[in-house]
Order: sequence, then C-alpha cells, then structure tokens
Amino acid sequence: MIIFRNMRILELEPPSVSEPTDVAVYEPGEGDVAGAGMFIGEAVKTAAIGAAVGGTIAAIGPSLTARYPTAKVAGEGGYLSAGLVCGHTHLYSALARGMLVDIAPSKDFAQLLDHLWWRLDRAIDPAILRASALAGCSDALKAGVTGVIDHHAGPECIDGSLTTLREGFEIVGTRGILCYEATDRNGIDGARAGVAENVRFAREVDEVRASARKPLVEAAIGAHASFTVGDDTLSALADAVRSTGRGIHIHLAEDKFDAVDARYRFGADPIERLEAVGALTDKGIIGHGVWLTPSEVEIMNARGVFLAHNARSNMNNAVGYNALLPAFRNVVLGTDGMGADMLEEFKFAVFRHRESQGPWWPGDFLKVLHRGNAILGRYFDQDFAPGYPGFGTVKVGAPADLVLWDYDPPTPLVGENIAEHFAFGMSSRAARTVIVAGSLRILDHRPLYDDASIEAEAREQASRLWKRMEER
Ligand SMILES: [Zn+2]
Repeated sequence: MIIFRNMRILELEPPSVSEPTDVAVYEPGEGDVAGAGMFIGEAVKTAAIGAAVGGTIAAIGPSLTARYPTAKVAGEGGYLSAGLVCGHTHLYSALARGMLVDIAPSKDFAQLLDHLWWRLDRAIDPAILRASALAGCSDALKAGVTGVIDHHAGPECIDGSLTTLREGFEIVGTRGILCYEATDRNGIDGARAGVAENVRFAREVDEVRASARKPLVEAAIGAHASFTVGDDTLSALADAVRSTGRGIHIHLAEDKFDAVDARYRFGADPIERLEAVGALTDKGIIGHGVWLTPSEVEIMNARGVFLAHNARSNMNNAVGYNALLPAFRNVVLGTDGMGADMLEEFKFAVFRHRESQGPWWPGDFLKVLHRGNAILGRYFDQDFAPGYPGFGTVKVGAPADLVLWDYDPPTPLVGENIAEHFAFGMSSRAARTVIVAGSLRILDHRPLYDDASIEAEAREQASRLWKRMEER
C-alpha cells in the first residue's frame, strides 16, 4: 500500500480542487484474490483479472495512515492528479534531439520526410530502438505523463519491433498503446511485414490477458498516411482492425498534399477511403487531420474516432493550422515525437489557437488534454471491474496512474481556473512523484529505475543512429 498524505486532488474533467485529504493506492497485485495481476519491470505474477484490484486506488479520506499503518508514505502536501496522456507520438525520434547529421534543406513536407524522417527510420536497429523506448518513456514519466500512445516506424527491423518497444515501456513502467506504421513506400513485402507486426503484437497482448495478467501495454493497428498506403494495404489493415478488435492509428491530411493525393489517385477523401473499408471505429486515432473537410469530420464524429492534434509539430513543419478543431467530437493532444511534455504541448495548443482567433479558450483545451484518458479506457477498460470510474480521475477503483505535483502558486488554484494555471503557470517541472498501475516509478523527482544508465545508453545509441543516417 502507498499513501499520499494531506494533498489536494486535482480533477481535470470536470475541473475541481479538493480540500486536503489522503489517498491510498494498492500496489501491483496487492488486495488481489491470488497474487499480482500487473506486468511491471521484471515482476510478473498472476491473478484472476476480474478479481484484481492491484494497481487501483484503494481509499480516499482523512488519516489513512491510521487505517493502513504499514503503508509507504509517498508524499505529503501538493496536488495529486491522474497522470497525463500523450495521444500521439513517435518514440523512434527520441534520439533525434540536436541531431548532428547533414540534412539537405527541404522545400516542403514531402521533402522533409525524404531528407530527414525516412532516413532516420531506416537507420533504426534493435539497440537504437530499445534506447529510444527507454529514454522516451522516462522523459514522459518525468513530465507527469503516464500514458503514451506510440506510432512506430523502422523498415529495416520490423518483425518484433513492437515487443522491443514494449520491453522499454515495462522496464520504465509507462502505460502505452503501440503500433507499427505500415506503408507501401518500401515495397509490397515491407507493407505486408508492417501489417503482420501489428497483428502479431496484438496477439501477444491477447496472450498476456489469456494468462490472467493485466497488460501495461496495448496494441493498435498502425499505418503511415493515406499517400503511402494503397488500396491493398488499406484492406489488409481493415481486416487487422476487425480480426484483432483494435483501432487504426494513422496520419491523415497532415500536409495538404495527403488530401490532394487521395482525391487525385483514389477519387476519395482520406477519411472516405478508411470509411469505405470499414477501418473507422471508436478505437481509431487519426493524427493531425489539418486538411480534413467538414464532411470528413462528420464521418469521424459518427464513428467516435479520435483526432490527435499536435500543435507544436504542425507549427514546426509549417503544415498549416487545423481551423476545424472545434468541430471534431474527440480531439486529444499529441506531441508527434517532440518529447512527451503534455503541459508544454497544452500551452502551445492554447496559444496557437488563440493566435488563429478560434473560439476555444484554455478550459476547452483542458477537456482535450483530459480526453487522452478516453483512449486508454477503450483499450484497457476490460482489465478493470465493470463500472470502475475510468482513467483520468482520482476515485476509489480508478487505475492508480497518478502524479503528485509540487505546485505552490502565487494565486488561488480552484476548479474554475485550473486551465489558466496550466496555460500561464504550472509546468512539468512540478511533477514530483509518479505512480503507474500502482507502481512507484518516480519518488520526489528521483526515478526509481536506472535513469542514469538509460540516458547514457541513449547518448551512445544516438551517436550510432546519426552515423547510420549519414550512410543512408
Ligand atoms: Zn505523427
């Protein structure tokens, strides 16, 4: 048992700040009928999933240390919230920061992919991938981000790549949803291998559940973008969505070129292409969607599909602004590989929208930031008791994916102004103690995994990656 004492609970949706109270958390396996049910780090034990309360919030109220005298105290004072979620990222770019590689200047987005990102993903090997996963997951936790939804590419090592990523997630202890971005740009064999890796990995997650364990990492069905996915590959992806019960995760209309290409080559809007093969479900995630049209937004809304908005990445790539943002029903925020600091991403999303003179205010973006939890719910609900409170809330029975924030603001912090504190003050530096699935991962700003080795190995692999890029 882990106890947070005398802190205020910060709820993002609906926003509220509680009076000081205590929160007690079941550690992995604790309170379960037979041993542990969670998969963290090296510790793997088993339990009947239905009976498992390990990794959830056990109690909320005053003086819980009297009720649980042997519990570890993980913090006192401050604000406790559910962990933040990154709705779209690429951990393969974790080692791209400050890259010292001769990259030809790009005139547009298509050239940028060719000159930079497709050289980078071809240069990935298992050691680089492992180092990227560990460093990227660690970065996320240190920013108070406990859930990371990744979109992976690495055409020279596809088979098994999602398992390598998963191991990184489990060692650090970050919750995740992984996929491989299938594409035709490396030929038909490459496309098939990409689809197959998604299906293989979904089965691997199914096996975790079949052996009565709760997975920390789930699977989606990944694809790169409309302009690199022909009709055959798209059909295979739709089959994979049906056969695995997972959602598609794809970039659409990030650049205008993708929307134009779909209409020119396939005679349909990008979303219409996915709809025609039945690939749109309420577990689906569309990255960017900057150039989607109102009729495509309507289709997405009808299917309950998520739109992952990546404000910083869109600005950096100069692909334009998503003026239809308020029309989408299920907008979430992603970083698109630019780290995993969701408070920073939130600020960019707010300010870029204000600059565009759109109708949304910080409070609207707080709902968007919180909605990343709804994606986790659609993939992980089955691991919790029916009627549990869901992800993204601090209530008894909710998943213990929690962050204690060291925030001591110069103005009152109440439910009505959480969004403005996030926009104008609070930063990820305040993330002090982080728990995922009931397992303490960071205590008082100190990672409980071997972060120094992770960062040292990442720097070594970054040098290798950059050298391999020069050769490609
Ligand atoms: Zn992306």
